[in-house]
Amino acid sequence: MPSTSEIVRSLRAAGVREVDDSTRRRAEYSTDASLYRVVPEVVVFPHDADEVAATLDVCRRTGTALTARGAGTSIAGNAVGPGVVLDTSRHMHQVLDVDPAARTATVQPGVVLDDLQRAAAPHGLRFGPDPSTHSRATLGGMIGNNACGSRALGYGRTSDNVMALDLLTGTGERLNAGRGQDPATSSVLTALDAAVHRHLATIRTELGRFSRQVSGYGLDHLLPERGFDVAKALVGTEGTCGVLLEATVRLVRRPATVASVVLGYPDMAAAADAVPTVLTHSPIACEGLDSRITDVVRARRGDAALPPLPAGAGWLLVEIGAASPAEAAAAADALVADAGRSPRAC
Ligand SMILES: Cc1cc2nc3c(=O)[nH]c(=O)nc-3n(C[C@H](O)[C@H](O)[C@H](O)COP(=O)(O)OP(=O)(O)OC[C@H]3O[C@@H](n4cnc5c(N)ncnc54)[C@H](O)[C@@H]3O)c2cc1C
Repeated sequence: MPSTSEIVRSLRAAGVREVDDSTRRRAEYSTDASLYRVVPEVVVFPHDADEVAATLDVCRRTGTALTARGAGTSIAGNAVGPGVVLDTSRHMHQVLDVDPAARTATVQPGVVLDDLQRAAAPHGLRFGPDPSTHSRATLGGMIGNNACGSRALGYGRTSDNVMALDLLTGTGERLNAGRGQDPATSSVLTALDAAVHRHLATIRTELGRFSRQVSGYGLDHLLPERGFDVAKALVGTEGTCGVLLEATVRLVRRPATVASVVLGYPDMAAAADAVPTVLTHSPIACEGLDSRITDVVRARRGDAALPPLPAGAGWLLVEIGAASPAEAAAAADALVADAGRSPRAC
């Protein structure tokens, strides 16, 4: 393992402008939103793809670990590591293009989700999945984690909304990953295609079995019947397969209005029993809330800290998209009539 000063010298000599090995910076980047603490040797803030490539090259030559990072809101230590931490959020944060006709956007990895939403909103569009950290989370991090959020119910996971990725692999190869590519055009694609064909049965029976599956590598996207979609397969790989430089993502139409309904049940088990009925109303979002959580808020902050909730000890918060306020009111009434009158509802 080279010394910190050797890594810094090599990075600067390779043309990387912002290299920070101060004690303060290393301490700041030793944490994300998890319990883990790993102090890096150096933090790099690349300005462009060339500086990312130069950083990867130095890491490869010196045997230094590299961890890509966006906002660092990961809760499982995903964004901390020894060696170099590469933060794209400071300079690589441009929304490069919004194409309202194609309903796509092309972004750099450090774009914060809310900034993409602001760019898409004038066209009546939005990026579908929105983790609760949307005011900070970057597209690079969301793609790294295959982030979901409450509206993934309506719009799918991040992987369902990624169309093409431009990245640098660990060997320094620039890979433009998409769907239906000819495996013969790149050694990486050839190897991936061969691996999938060696393990077809396992991938078909063990992976992609339910719509919210995000753990592990999404090799099911590489199946021939799914169009050998390398871009989607790379979503959720947490930076272990390459460093993202650019992404083209699908945008969805914003509903003109939404109906928000809170349904009360005697407990969370009863609320869970009602979910299949709720799903028949095609909600955009459906979240559960247990009185064990509201009790803590009430005990610490008083009744006024809670919004009024229907009677019960388990609630479902449901959002349904609609074309007009009248349609939203009708959708809300239908939902309450259906799921709110189940035998165990309050
Ligand atoms: C309070 C709280 C609420 C949350 N709510 C949700 C939620 O509702 N739904 C949800 O899915 N998640 C949620 N999360 C987890 C997290 O916020 C999301 O996964 C978020 O999308 C991560 O974005 P980030 O920019 O912080 O990524 P980071 O944490 O910085 O990185 C995430 C991963 O992506 C990799 N990565 C980052 N940039 C690149 C790049 N350029 N190239 C390659 N790899 C890269 C990193 O190495 C890491 O493995 C929550 C976290 C907290 C703390």
